[in-house]
Amino acid sequence: MITIEKSERLKKLPPYLFKEIDRQKEEVRKRGVDIISLGVGDPDMPTPSHIIEALQKAAIDPENHKYPSYSGMDDFNRAVARWYKKRFNVKLDSGSEVVTLIGSKEGIAHIPLAFINHGDLALVTSPGYPVYDTGVQFAGGRSYFMDLKKENDFLPDLKAVPPDIAKKAKLMFINYPNNPTSAVATGEFFKEVVRFAEANNIIVCHDAAYTELAFDGYKPASFLETDGAREVGIEFHSLSKTYNMTGWRLGFAVGRTEVVNALGQIKSNIDSGAFQAVQVAGIAALDGDQTCVEKINMEYAERRNILVDGLIKLGLSVKKPQATFYVWIEVPKGYTSAQYTSHLLSKAGIVVTPGNGFGAAGEGYIRMALTVGKERMKEVIERIRSIGF
Ligand SMILES: *Cc1c(COP(=O)(O)O)cnc(C)c1O
Repeated sequence: MITIEKSERLKKLPPYLFKEIDRQKEEVRKRGVDIISLGVGDPDMPTPSHIIEALQKAAIDPENHKYPSYSGMDDFNRAVARWYKKRFNVKLDSGSEVVTLIGSKEGIAHIPLAFINHGDLALVTSPGYPVYDTGVQFAGGRSYFMDLKKENDFLPDLKAVPPDIAKKAKLMFINYPNNPTSAVATGEFFKEVVRFAEANNIIVCHDAAYTELAFDGYKPASFLETDGAREVGIEFHSLSKTYNMTGWRLGFAVGRTEVVNALGQIKSNIDSGAFQAVQVAGIAALDGDQTCVEKINMEYAERRNILVDGLIKLGLSVKKPQATFYVWIEVPKGYTSAQYTSHLLSKAGIVVTPGNGFGAAGEGYIRMALTVGKERMKEVIERIRSIGF
């Protein structure tokens, strides 16, 4: 028997926070409780049928069975540029400013390999999507966490970043509309980010996975709409949440050519691109009728109203989100995030995500995802009422 020893990079990862919750979930399930899961951010609705049909047709074509181009099919990258023009009025050169990703998580995890050297710093928000920090660590760098606070509307306070840290940082990750807080960015904030990046020579990575998931007529902006943004950064997009395509693995990044190219260079050494038939279906999604997105958003908005109105009536502190399918809730006094999460699970059979799972500054909150139907959502409120929250 050889001995198996994990690399320092794996050993250094934070402990898996959901282990204890997974154990409790199993225990509750064994008791025969009908569990309602608002834990993971994975849409429960199916991919719209015109996209599935495009995949079916493309899957039969032997041309699509070969290695794809690592930076994406020209046709897909052109569809991305058309979509950006139509949606954000941002004109992109599909040949030099777009790279196709095997889901945006892939690009987010890999981009630090292109710019971070051993010991380099990246600015990362806390709470935040865990992949930002993990990607930085895997590249040998370190994250400086910018806390997202309620009093700042969950936008990072760039003035609070110490000047020596700002000068040393190579990358900055931001994400609006935000997971997990559901906060949205203002135009003024994006302008401030551009000025900060220019002053400190930082590459901005804006994760825009939720720009299409918005309610009540609100249309989130692209970071690239901001003057100067395309010189300082790159924006990551995903088809996962917009078109209920999480399992398909298709996303893209757009922005400053040198940044897009460097990410492409990393990818060309690691993967061989997304399955072409999936890219063909992606073209159908981006070019096609967007009524499906409106319908999906309408459903989430109704679920949101049931959940948030219900929670407020019960006395919990929560704001109605304008975007994303998450609700970010302050835990009642006397509980930590983990304690309130266990309480909801063991007493009410409801799975939520503890806020500290997204970073230390998420302590004091839980996240609920709007990924169950309206009747189940009413049941969530009923159950929380019955345990007196
Ligand atoms: C879901 C999610 C992603 C990843 O999406 P994929 O394209 O499916 O990899 C990226 N960022 C955030 C904030 C997300 O919530």
